[in-house]
Formats: sequence, C-alpha cells, structure tokens
Amino acid sequence: MDKIIKILLVEDEPKMRELIKIAFKKENFETYEAVDGKQALNLLKNYNFDIVILDIMLPEIDGWTVCRELRKISDIPIIMLTARGEEFDKLFGFELGADDYVVKPFSPRELVARVKALLRRAENRNAEVADVIDAGEIRINTLSREVIIDGESIPFTNKEYELLLFLSTNQNIVFTREQLLLKVWGYDQYGDPRTVDTHIKRIREKLGDRSNYITTVWGVGYKFEVKQ
Ligand code: CA
Repeated sequence: MDKIIKILLVEDEPKMRELIKIAFKKENFETYEAVDGKQALNLLKNYNFDIVILDIMLPEIDGWTVCRELRKISDIPIIMLTARGEEFDKLFGFELGADDYVVKPFSPRELVARVKALLRRAENRNAEVADVIDAGEIRINTLSREVIIDGESIPFTNKEYELLLFLSTNQNIVFTREQLLLKVWGYDQYGDPRTVDTHIKRIREKLGDRSNYITTVWGVGYKFEVKQ
C-alpha cells in the first residue's frame, strides 16, 4: 500500500502494545496508542484512523462498549483482541459491529495479515455500485446501507449487509465459502469458513419469507437467486 496507514491500537498491556507496534512498524504503518476505552473513544472522535485494533478487557470502558459507541459514528474497520479462555461470543462481537477478532496469543504476522485483509475489503467497499439495488422483493439502498423489505428497513450488521450486497449483485452464481471470505472479508488465509455459514443463517432469518433467495448448493457453497 502506498499511503501511510494509521492504526489506533487500544490495549492496556504495555508488552502487548510494544509487540504489535513493532510488527506494524516493519510494514510502514503508523500506530497510535490508547491505554483504556475512554481514551480510545476520545481519540476516535477527534482524529482520523484507518483501522482500530481493540482489546476487550480494558480499564474505564471495555472493548465491547467502545465498539458499540464507535459504530454509531463510524464504519471504520474494527478488529478485536481477546485472551484465550476469555468468554468471547463471536456473534455478540459481530452484532456490535466488529469486523474480525484475533485470539491471544497470536503471531504478529497473523494480526498484520488480518489488518491488511480488512483494509483491502474497506477499499473495495468504496468501488462503484448502484445507489439502489432491487433484487426481487429485496431493496438495498447502498447510500444508507439499508435493506428494505415490504417498505420496512431491516437492521443488518456490517458484514451481514456486505455479504447480502455481494450475493445480490452477483445473482445466480455459486460461490464457495472461501470465495465469500475473500470477497466479503478480504481473507485469502486464516479465515474460518464457518463464519460464512453463521452469517448466511442470520441473513436468512432476517429475510423471512425471502430467505429462499439464498440457496445452499450442497458441497459447494451458496448462491442468490430471486424466486417467486
Ligand atoms: Ca486487556
């Protein structure tokens, strides 16, 4: 990447901060630091960053709350850090709007790869798409990032929205889980294919009567197809 990427690293353990900082310095990223949730939110409200690495267990305000508050004002990519053995509810994290998470202890290389994947994805997101997409009885407004069914806006998380948008703009094509991980999450490695299944399940629940628009192609993956 040509431009300098600014990371906000929110982590209360000095050793962990140091380790992460070194890994990203090698990659020419600029790392800014916050040591608690309160400081993190202050920085995020007042300065521009490209991505946030957010620890969950933090003094003052925890990572969950920071994530939720941040989502009210920004769609900046968020990757969460969690300790092994810490009760981490993946779904809860995604529901709050986190884009990804990494379990401690992790290799700095893995974290760098994940951050790059998220940034690639965020860049692709800005590629040209129509303002309004009508897929059968589902309407997607890409300006307000809303999914509208029967005139009603259905709340979608970031990734649910992006996955539905991708599938509905590529109708009748079967995608494998790995392809979807690459296209929607930006992963070419480290991704867990079950993440796709979890999101598909939730999207179907939200689509209600139109859940049959998403077809499971057994042994292959998924496709979007408008059905009567
Ligand atoms: Ca911590």
